[in-house]
Amino acid sequence: MMTRLDGNVLAGRLADLLGWDATATDARCSQCGIHGAIARAIVYATAMGTVARCAQCDGVLATIVEGDGGRVWFGMTGVTALELTREP
Ligand SMILES: [Zn+2]
Repeated sequence: MMTRLDGNVLAGRLADLLGWDATATDARCSQCGIHGAIARAIVYATAMGTVARCAQCDGVLATIVEGDGGRVWFGMTGVTALELTREP
């Protein structure tokens, strides 16, 4: 069974993997070039893993696959850039 969710569902998982809540981070889609907050992505969750797709073109932005023993495969094949702001 596949569940369709919005990108906000990634908040906890991305914070766990990256060290910050990246849902407000601006990401650029490698397929259509649109950029926007990761929270705007469409997320499909299954027992096998999670796929985040571009809300504009439906291209795959990122995948998260959970393995045994705490292993995680986090792919961002559809993101050409993340916009980050450092504290001054
Ligand atoms: Zn796109």
